[in-house]
Parts: sequence; structure tokens; C-alpha cells
Amino acid sequence: MKSEFKSPRMGRRGALMLIGAAVPVLALSTKAANAFQMPESTAHYVPDATDGKPCAKCKFYEGSNACKVVKGSISPKGTCMLWQPH
Ligand code: SF4
Repeated sequence: MKSEFKSPRMGRRGALMLIGAAVPVLALSTKAANAFQMPESTAHYVPDATDGKPCAKCKFYEGSNACKVVKGSISPKGTCMLWQPH
């Protein structure tokens, strides 16, 4: 019996289908990331950093009182246990 093996090379149509599938997945990833922001209390957020690690110098701080990983109004002078340097 002869097997019908097709080449794994992707044609133009396959590439377009892959891109079409990837775009919604990437959009969902951004929404999902926002949905999984941690509450301030869980992150042990405090509005005044006393340890020299303010949100303004954290890689998760987005400016405009927003953080990528902690929900709520986040002061640039605050801090939490998730602080990471830029
Ligand atoms: S220290 Fe970083 S992770 Fe924590 S609230 Fe501030 S910006 Fe967000």
C-alpha cells in the first residue's frame, strides 16, 4: 500500500490561515492578561514605598496610575511584593 505523504511546506494560503488564526489569539492574550491582574491586597500593595522600590521604577508600571499586573489605581510612589527593576 502506498502512503500519500504531503510535503510539510506551507503554501501562501497556509501562511495566511496561520496569521488569521494568530491575530485573535494575540488579542485574547492581551485581554486575558488584563483579566488576571492581581488585587492590591494580594500583591501587598502600599501607596508609599519606604524600601526604595517605587512603582515608578518597576518594570510593570505603565504610567497614569496603572500597573500591568496589579488592579486599581497604582501610585508611582507605591510598591508591592511583585516589584521588579526596569
Ligand atoms: S511595584 Fe510594580 S508590580 Fe507592584 S504595583 Fe507597583 S508597578 Fe505594579
